[in-house]
Amino acid sequence: MPCVFCMIAKKEIPSNVVYENDDVICFNDLKPITPVHVLIVPKKHFDDILDLSATQEGQQVMTAVLKAVPEVARITGVESGFRLINNCREDGGQTVMHVHFHLIGGIKLGAKML
Ligand code: 5GP
Ligand code: ZN
Repeated sequence: MPCVFCMIAKKEIPSNVVYENDDVICFNDLKPITPVHVLIVPKKHFDDILDLSATQEGQQVMTAVLKAVPEVARITGVESGFRLINNCREDGGQTVMHVHFHLIGGIKLGAKML
């Protein structure tokens, strides 16, 4: 089955892109849970964060994710605070099996939101 985030990264299906560079694409979640809900997604396919951490290439991609965080926070105006969430594999609630990080904010986040 084709991977939806690979297709978004290749612009084969549309998304609202907030920020992108050679390594990552950051776009608005289809079903936002907060006023700001951006998915930070490596352009190269890795299944999940364990897959990402398993190789040197993946670790470099993780660095690219880390560098994208302040860019997305600045662009979306949430430098006063936000949450970065990764759901890993089935028991972690991951539904799209292409590693991604949810940056949520734009409201004062409650302790029990997630
Ligand atoms: P997960 O549950 O795997 O942590 O998060 C997957 C997220 O991807 C969900 O929040 C879901 O709303 C979002 N999503 C799934 N398909 C699409 C899509 O085609 N476009 C966008 N923008 N978001 C999607
Ligand atoms: Zn993919």
